[in-house]
Amino acid sequence: MRPLGVHTSIKNTLLNSIAEAVELKCTTFQIFLHSPQVWKIPEFEQSLIEEFRKQREYYALNPLVVHASYLINLISSNPKTIASSRFLLKREVLASDSIGADYYVIHLKDNKDMNKDEIYTKTKEGFDKIEFLSNCKILLENTAKSKITARIPDLFETFERVRNNNIAGVCIDTCHLFAAGYDLGKDEGIESFINDMEKYGDFTLIKMIHLNDSKTSSGSGIDRHEHIGKGYIGEAGFIKFLKIQALSSLPLILETPKKSLQDDLKNLSVVRAILRKLKS
Ligand SMILES: [Zn+2]
Ligand SMILES: [Zn+2]
Repeated sequence: MRPLGVHTSIKNTLLNSIAEAVELKCTTFQIFLHSPQVWKIPEFEQSLIEEFRKQREYYALNPLVVHASYLINLISSNPKTIASSRFLLKREVLASDSIGADYYVIHLKDNKDMNKDEIYTKTKEGFDKIEFLSNCKILLENTAKSKITARIPDLFETFERVRNNNIAGVCIDTCHLFAAGYDLGKDEGIESFINDMEKYGDFTLIKMIHLNDSKTSSGSGIDRHEHIGKGYIGEAGFIKFLKIQALSSLPLILETPKKSLQDDLKNLSVVRAILRKLKS
């Protein structure tokens, strides 16, 4: 079966994420390196990194995905914010590489007062400051509303314009796709996603999927994740989406609402049931 996991917590220790992933019988997992709303990023001790790598290998959790924090804004109109963002981006990406992460997933910021060329130039400058990474590859995630990353043609144009040796492809989030106007609950929405991918995108550049239902209607431009099958995409939408042949071996990571691990367990069981049904 394809890799399936959730976004896990590193509260108290980095190792907590592995414990959660194992308890939920995940085969892949995602983490933040620190609280995603603050600039401060702690340094991991070498001994902790080694233990983390050892446990992750033992439990065969692949891939390991790090999600970028939300403050990073490489195109801010405030030069200080750009400097802090470049610094944090580099620190996060190098830390991801050091713990053996396969992917570092980031949402790029949009700016309504800036044209695409300006955005691309500034964004690329930020990424180009990072030296070549040994393990980790950067992925650009589609977003709910943006002129550079919401619709498939824009996302792939952006990828082509900012790519370098560290940026390997994209991560597709189903909630964001839905909010951006691809109504995955309907055959037409699935077809329009596939048509855009064939015309403007490249399926081989999609490296992983964020599987989330949506609390808001298609085209709302609002990013609110919902439990799988309980939102506007619905179970029927996920069955259609997970049937797409070109995506059928990609890792799936859930970022659904979570008060306790029970929530993850429920969502995972819905996805596992769909995957079993599709295989039989
Ligand atoms: Zn996501
Ligand atoms: Zn989201």
